Amino acid sequence: MMDDKISHGVSKLNEWKGSSVWYRINCSCGGDCDTDMEFEFDKDFGFINLNFYKNVAWSDYDSHTFFGRIWSRLKAAYKILTTGYISLNGSTLIQEEGHINSVIEALQEGRDKLIKFKADFDKLEGNKNED
Ligand SMILES: [Zn+2]
Repeated sequence: MMDDKISHGVSKLNEWKGSSVWYRINCSCGGDCDTDMEFEFDKDFGFINLNFYKNVAWSDYDSHTFFGRIWSRLKAAYKILTTGYISLNGSTLIQEEGHINSVIEALQEGRDKLIKFKADFDKLEGNKNED
């Protein structure tokens, strides 16, 4: 169990008992490109969900000059103004066996917690119906 400790680039951020648990996967590059995972038990529908959250930023790495970057940003701004939409993407680098194993450990731990959240909730709801 990795409860509350940082283990090879993965840390547990928070847990709301019976509801959700959050982990952060640190990017191996050291930049601001981590990915957060939320294991969520949706009590209203009885679903267990895994959500991924990630910051993405405009990248003009294909422009090698100052004016090239300005032109690239202007084109992106124009696209947002005219269409209201721009497509961005980002990656999180998970490097080396220990880091990969920590992500797998967090996935398994989060899944197990969700299964327990749901089982506890179902048991509680079952007890309510027997009254
Ligand atoms: Zn990165």
